[in-house]
Amino acid sequence: MPRVPVKLVSWEEVVEWSRGLARVIKQSGYKPTVVIAVARGGYVPARLLCDFLGVENLLSIQSQHWTEAAKASEKAVLKFPYRVDLRGHRALLVDDIVDTGETLILARDYVAREWGPEELRIATLQWISSVAKLKPDFYYMEVKDWVWFQYPWTRLEDVTQFIRRMLQEHSRETGQREWSYEEIKRLFKEWYGIEVEEFYYQDALEMLVESGLLEKTGDRYRLRT
Ligand code: AMP
Repeated sequence: MPRVPVKLVSWEEVVEWSRGLARVIKQSGYKPTVVIAVARGGYVPARLLCDFLGVENLLSIQSQHWTEAAKASEKAVLKFPYRVDLRGHRALLVDDIVDTGETLILARDYVAREWGPEELRIATLQWISSVAKLKPDFYYMEVKDWVWFQYPWTRLEDVTQFIRRMLQEHSRETGQREWSYEEIKRLFKEWYGIEVEEFYYQDALEMLVESGLLEKTGDRYRLRT
């Protein structure tokens, strides 16, 4: 059993799920005139929904809650608040997933109050129904057991954070401070239950060296702090 439940999501699944979500929206009879992507996770699904629903208007708003993979920060914040006039528009607010729901609650309230669309609905690929404080109007998949969806657009960021946490924790537990590249890959599979393309491990480790967390000697990586 991996320590953190992770579902590795492929680009093909993202397209399939977004198309499925578009069909749910179509069947409901709701015809949005503008799509609003919640940055950053909503960008790809929002763009695909524009394609599948034939919507030309695409805006974005950045509401952020989870600053680290599989670790929520305290409070959702709205970055770069700005105003646009959406009077007369039917809006569709799109994100990848509703987990706690904090991100979308903040974005929804802001858009409704400051942008004033005639109608506002929410669509996400996933809805974690067991924990979410908000149920999206449209979703493609209801998730009952919490899992981290490792979407392809955040793969390097997630792998980097996963490796950092894994090495720090492993070091605390065993006292080990140095690992070979192959050992890190093996531990990663054990901890997260997934494997990613080779270049992700390489780029993630390069980032951890650049950030000063690790020191590289030959093919070995050593914790510096
Ligand atoms: P929340 O405010 O808790 O609903 O978190 C929403 C945002 O955090 C989403 O837009 C995702 O980008 C990210 N996120 C939260 N939980 C997960 C998860 N279980 N898997 C993948 N991404 C997540």
